[in-house]
Amino acid sequence: MSDEQLWRSRIVDVLDFPSEGVVFKDISPLLAHHDAFSAAVDAVVAHHLEAAVDKVVGIEARGFIVAAPAAYRLGAGFVPVRKPGKLPGPTHEEAYSLEYGANVLQVHRDAFSPGERVLIVDDVLATGGTAAAAARLVFTAGAEVVGFSVLLELGFLAGRAALAAQHPGVPVHALLEY
Ligand code: AMP
Repeated sequence: MSDEQLWRSRIVDVLDFPSEGVVFKDISPLLAHHDAFSAAVDAVVAHHLEAAVDKVVGIEARGFIVAAPAAYRLGAGFVPVRKPGKLPGPTHEEAYSLEYGANVLQVHRDAFSPGERVLIVDDVLATGGTAAAAARLVFTAGAEVVGFSVLLELGFLAGRAALAAQHPGVPVHALLEY
């Protein structure tokens, strides 16, 4: 079985979660399988090896799971982008909209040094609102976004085009497209 077949076999569609009409892509079975999880982290890392990444941003919460080992393997630092009220220090914040709601993201104001090269990692790219807000936070904090990386992309929600419109020229990488 190829890595892609393995990953696809371990991503489960959950209908009407967390609200009616949403098909939630549950990556828990992929994470629970050592070969699938390690191959996914390895593939993310391999794709960004040449990008000279200084920091990897993980988006709360499932983004952390891939971003942290990727940062370790890329020789980069890890920075959490979190939901409101979780970070103890002074923060920048950005509002964003989700496939199933709206929210705010925050990052510590001192999370980056000026000009640092940042890779933004999440589990799923849907409409792109979350990743775009994370990128605005990185720019506001004085660093540069050199890429977006997700395990899977929901192509029919056109998140890639939304990111291209808001952050032109920043490459988007997905291991799988649905
Ligand atoms: P969006 O901002 O619309 O691109 O949504 C992406 C964020 O919402 C990611 O952090 C995902 O974890 C989550 N998300 C959105 N839609 C789904 C979905 N269908 N299945 C799993 N996670 C999703």
